[in-house]
Amino acid sequence: MKAKPTASNLHPHTGKIPLHDREQRHGHRGCVVWLTGLSASGKSTIAIELERELFRRGCQPFILDGDSVRQGLCSDLDFSERGRHENIRRVGEVARLFSDAGFICISAFISPHRADRDLVRNLMPPGTFIEVFVNAPLAVCEQRDPKGLYAKARKNKIKNFTGISSPYEPPLKPEIELLTSRLTVMQAVEKILKLLEKKCRIKFKSVKSAGKTPGAIRWSDW
Ligand code: ADP
Repeated sequence: MKAKPTASNLHPHTGKIPLHDREQRHGHRGCVVWLTGLSASGKSTIAIELERELFRRGCQPFILDGDSVRQGLCSDLDFSERGRHENIRRVGEVARLFSDAGFICISAFISPHRADRDLVRNLMPPGTFIEVFVNAPLAVCEQRDPKGLYAKARKNKIKNFTGISSPYEPPLKPEIELLTSRLTVMQAVEKILKLLEKKCRIKFKSVKSAGKTPGAIRWSDW
């Protein structure tokens, strides 16, 4: 559900390009792949590999990542409950715009609150919000600690740190759950690709080995 605008006298214009035409041009449906999970669970790592694999298959993916967004669009927000809520609300609106434009928008955000994630889900047309629970035990995340944030949080140098001093509400019915303490990064990516084929009616031809430039890729009709 959209937030009620504060301003009045708003008259949005409707363009003349039907969504279907955009999808035909891109070769797939627009959607949002929403990665949620604790810090260091693997969201960004998976997002980057997923984006590359989709791009290689001729799709139009784009990543929205927590740290980047907090340096620009959301640089005025802190990690208070209110700041986190507003962060996800803004990102959700941006993700929706990318999806409307026909992109596969990969969003990598801790997004600890179920209500905030559901708010984004409810912005989206049915079937186009793919919630991916990137799940690793707190102990594993803390051991990985690629940015040294858990160490700081344990020393009380970071306030409101999810999993330590701030709650994380796991999804109840995610479209997919990835146990990253048991899967490799590429196994996790493959699982998302399979799901996208099914849920977003994307049918790509398989590509050979990873890391090569995409060749001429043909799409099946959907
Ligand atoms: P997040 O974005 O969730 O904070 P990052 O992707 O920044 O997490 O960091 C996750 C760390 O865990 C990286 O150093 C990554 O190499 C490592 N890692 C180990 N196994 C996996 C896996 N199966 N999936 C994703 N990341 C993994």
